[in-house]
Amino acid sequence: MKKIGIISVLLLFAAFGVFAQTDGPMPMKPEMTEIWDPEVPVVTPGVTPLNAPSDAIVLFDGEDIGREWTNGQGGEPGWKVEEGCVTVVRGQGIIKTKRVFEDFQLHIEWRSPSEIVGTSQGRGNSGVFLQERYEVQVLDNYDNRTYRNGQAGSVYKQHAPLVNACKAPGEWQTYDIIYTAPRFNDDGTYFTPPTVTVLHNGVLVQNNVKMRGPTEYIGIPEYSVKKHGPGSISLQDHGNPVSFRNIWIREL
Ligand code: MG
Repeated sequence: MKKIGIISVLLLFAAFGVFAQTDGPMPMKPEMTEIWDPEVPVVTPGVTPLNAPSDAIVLFDGEDIGREWTNGQGGEPGWKVEEGCVTVVRGQGIIKTKRVFEDFQLHIEWRSPSEIVGTSQGRGNSGVFLQERYEVQVLDNYDNRTYRNGQAGSVYKQHAPLVNACKAPGEWQTYDIIYTAPRFNDDGTYFTPPTVTVLHNGVLVQNNVKMRGPTEYIGIPEYSVKKHGPGSISLQDHGNPVSFRNIWIREL
């Protein structure tokens, strides 16, 4: 009886053509590779690519620097705010965001002084520090030579920019920075190092480069790798009155 049962099931399968196509893969239909859910979130872009999209955190809108920023000690920033921008005041030290970040897209605009003072690293020097450790150099390199891995758009002393896209001193310039924070092994070494892409005035100057370690003025970056969590964006006081405006960030 059991045998007859199996035979009749097999006959039934054959009748419905179950065994008809065993030679190749099932034919694909377009909708089989379409993914609908979850729906991609909607973001309203800024009026221009310079303006913050709807999901950005505005870190400085030209007015109140103390809302999102502190000085290095956690107090009021000592930099000068006027005419919609904030300017380094020599000796006041860094300013840094109160919020801390991991992976992000950052837009920041900067201007080196129109009055040219100094040469090489002494002209319009500041910097955007990612997680307070990794410097994207700000420097007036318009007709101003310096070491290639320390000029504007460099990951300071680690990666020279692909090109020099500087505008003249006194003109506003943009950085768009896409940053992926490091992930760590238990022993404090990088599991994956931090990586960064930088557009300077819309021109690609860093293409997803890997950092070797925190920025060092003197020494080997690898030696100072230490496990860390989320960090602020900080801006450098290098003694030159560099200005910043229109700073916004999107957490990724
Ligand atoms: Mg600097």
